[in-house]
Amino acid sequence: MCAGLARWLRVFGVDSSYQPGIKDADLVHHALREHRVVVSADGKLFERRVFVTDELAGLRLPVGLRLYDQFGYVVKGLGLHADAARCALCNGKLLPVQRTEVADVVPARSLIWARGFQCCSDCGHTYWEGTHWRRIRAVRESILGAKFGAARNPR
Ligand SMILES: [Zn+2]
Repeated sequence: MCAGLARWLRVFGVDSSYQPGIKDADLVHHALREHRVVVSADGKLFERRVFVTDELAGLRLPVGLRLYDQFGYVVKGLGLHADAARCALCNGKLLPVQRTEVADVVPARSLIWARGFQCCSDCGHTYWEGTHWRRIRAVRESILGAKFGAARNPR
C-alpha cells in the first residue's frame, strides 16, 4: 500500500505496516507472520498461491483512486471501525501525556490552547489536538458516512 494510505489508516486506529520498496516475497512472509491483510493495487501480487488458496487475506485497490478514495475503499472493504489513533509515522500506540511533559516540544500557542497531548510509545513523536487534528477528525467522519464500493475478494 502507499505511504499516505498507511498514515491515514493509523490515524483511523488501524494497526498498519508499510515498508517502502519491500519485495513481494518479503511482503508475503511479513503478512503471514503478523497475520495481516495485504492491501495493494498490484494485481500481479494477488496471483500468488497464498492469495489464491486464501491462506493470506488481501484487498485489491482499484487503480487510479485518489488517497481519500483509497482510504474509504479500504475502510468499507475491510469493514474497519475507527479506534484510538496510532502514530501516523511509525504505527506505535499513542499514550496520553501531561502538558508539562511536552512543554519543550509543543509550540507555546498550542501548549496553551490544545486540550490533550499524546506521545508515541515507539518513536516519541508528540501529537496534540489542534486545527490539524480537527481536520483529520472531519475526514474520519466523512469517510464513515460515505459510500464506497468495495469487495473483499482480491482476485
Ligand atoms: Zn511513532
